[in-house]
Amino acid sequence: MLGDCHIHMILDGVYYRAAIDHQKERPDEALIRNRLADYAARGITFLRDGGDAWGVGLRASQLAGEYGITYRTPVFNICRRGHYGCFLGRSFETLQEYRALVDEVAERGGHFIKIMVSGLMDFSQFGVLTDTACSYELCRDLISAAHDRGFAVMAHANGSEAVSNALRAGVDSVEHGAYLDRETLCQLAESGAVWVPTLVTIANLRGLGRFPDAVLEPLKALQQQNVAEAAAMGAKIALGTDAGAYAVYHGTAVQQEYDLLREALGERTDEILRAGEGEIRARF
Ligand SMILES: [Zn+2]
Repeated sequence: MLGDCHIHMILDGVYYRAAIDHQKERPDEALIRNRLADYAARGITFLRDGGDAWGVGLRASQLAGEYGITYRTPVFNICRRGHYGCFLGRSFETLQEYRALVDEVAERGGHFIKIMVSGLMDFSQFGVLTDTACSYELCRDLISAAHDRGFAVMAHANGSEAVSNALRAGVDSVEHGAYLDRETLCQLAESGAVWVPTLVTIANLRGLGRFPDAVLEPLKALQQQNVAEAAAMGAKIALGTDAGAYAVYHGTAVQQEYDLLREALGERTDEILRAGEGEIRARF
């Protein structure tokens, strides 16, 4: 059984503010244990968290062994101050501040570094992202500082510019990766980095009335086409759901993501996803 290479233990897929408020004071251990037990009951033995600022994923990583689960956490994600992602993590303005955060991840027992190098898809407008791309120079400084401390780097990155900059800077995994052009897909394949396309974060929004299906359907189709193209070029691809994101529920999302990836990858799905997860397990 494949694992889930991108979850947020703190979130519940319903309403992020309420989910965060619930565990702001301290992680809800009973809730975490329930989720871990549910993953274990589904035969899932590997989880990689995308981080949170309240130690919930970190606590989960300490409990997961009791459920036979290998759990990897970056503790919190790290973003550029004033940019997308700060609601769930910690931010920096200078490289010195960033290095202090990397040190803190090490001290608290984190397993890797998660950085945010782009915005999110604007689900109300096809082709639009909510924030600017991180420059190559900044990506290089962030990723090399993490590598120097022995950490692999997971990057939230959408759009060709951000993904290309992160790949050139040596990132280990690319999360989401919406709207990639052919050149960037080729660069992805050549880099050996793992792409975690989180298709279910798009697919599960369809039909809810929150965002127009006229945007969601072509975006889903584009992402699946890009997954197929990347795989044909030899890119490494892994299953990750972003569980906890809106309408993406812990546990059930794994099969949904698998089905979406299978539509894109066909008969080679298992072989490709096993290799992708193997690479993530080895690096992270
Ligand atoms: Zn995430």
